[in-house]
Amino acid sequence: MDVDLLEKICADMRGAPDLGKVADYIPELAKVDPRHFGISVCLADGRQLSAGDADVEFSVQSVSKVFTLSIALGRFGERLWQRVGREPSTNAFNSVHELEVHDGIPPNPFVNSGAIVTTDALLVGARPRETLAEILHFVRYAASDDDIHIDAAVARSEKLTGDKNWALAHMLRAYRNLDNACALALGTYFHQCAIRMSCEQLARFGRFLAHIHPHRSPVRAEHVRNINALMLTCGHYDGSGEFAFRVGMPAKSGVGGGILAVVPGIASVAVWSPGLNKHGNSLRGTAALEELSTACRWSVFEPHDR
Ligand code: GLU
Repeated sequence: MDVDLLEKICADMRGAPDLGKVADYIPELAKVDPRHFGISVCLADGRQLSAGDADVEFSVQSVSKVFTLSIALGRFGERLWQRVGREPSTNAFNSVHELEVHDGIPPNPFVNSGAIVTTDALLVGARPRETLAEILHFVRYAASDDDIHIDAAVARSEKLTGDKNWALAHMLRAYRNLDNACALALGTYFHQCAIRMSCEQLARFGRFLAHIHPHRSPVRAEHVRNINALMLTCGHYDGSGEFAFRVGMPAKSGVGGGILAVVPGIASVAVWSPGLNKHGNSLRGTAALEELSTACRWSVFEPHDR
């Protein structure tokens, strides 16, 4: 694995005819130039290799669900699973329908309803600003970088237009699976989604999930296994099966076009390309990870030594 491979992937992606479609249901995200492409990899020997726009910040959106799940597992352990399931969903990431069917229990912590419940759990006994400070502290520590912040304009934009999430929060509340007022839980959730990070920062965050920086891990090993299992099965919503088939790495996508992926014991990878596929996952980001995974034999399903 060397930087030439990342440069080649970058050149291939820059030449790709289809950029995908930038998320426009959050108006602030629609302003992002779809031509951006960045990739960064952290390796077990401590090296970090990057190419393209790897130092440009973007809105992490649902990648932040990994941050909150990590903190919530540490705090609540098994009790978290009384409020949210651990099964993949074949419905869209913001489906209201499945909450009705399952009496207000979201299928997993990575669909929006499950992430809103996770954030709500973190809010108990704290104010939104304290919970957001806790999330930022956690991310900065794991990424070894204090220069990570929330983009208030993106959070505001989603607060005004995120009607599906408001519907989800009210539905959760109706089923007594939201302890805080909808505005508090969602206000916190919109702000965590609006955290801005670069691929370089995100790849460094992923080191503890890849277990390549274990002495600094902010999360217990058993929870790392849980999170990776959920990323593999649920991290790309109703496109998770296709992603496992093509890439074969535990990974979490966000509608900002970022993807955080891990190869346990070997590497953590972050890619960013703002255009999305029909499931809301980065189109060229997925293609780039497929190319990387194939070249390095990094699929966790590889039958021989990686
Ligand atoms: N903030 C976005 C939402 O709640 C996150 C979705 C995503 O990144 O997949 O709709």
